[in-house]
Amino acid sequence: MSIIINPEKCKGCGLCTDVCPGSLIAQKDHGTAYIKYPKDCWGCASCIKECHFGAIALYLGADIGGMGSQMTVSATEDTLTWNIQKRDGTKDQIIINKKESNKY
Ligand code: SF4
Ligand code: SF4
Repeated sequence: MSIIINPEKCKGCGLCTDVCPGSLIAQKDHGTAYIKYPKDCWGCASCIKECHFGAIALYLGADIGGMGSQMTVSATEDTLTWNIQKRDGTKDQIIINKKESNKY
């Protein structure tokens, strides 16, 4: 499991490097983030939720039964919307109401 960082969207803010519990993300001299230890990523999604520029996607590879789709997230005060971009060009969305998700 791993993330993918789009260098064209990355603004170099460093939030993902700060939040990763495994210190797996580093930054190049000009600030662009990259995943330094992709094999060690356990997909906690903290970095994805922290990036305000949509630069990080979770790669849904064969190791977790995925087909190479990429998943990004956008947030409002009440919802998390997981956007799944499939390799065939189709898209899916999973919308989670944050207040409801804490009920269980
Ligand atoms: S949080 Fe996003 S914009 Fe900021 S350094 Fe990481 S990938 Fe780049
Ligand atoms: S998904 Fe979690 S473990 Fe993987 S790079 Fe992001 S913060 Fe680190």
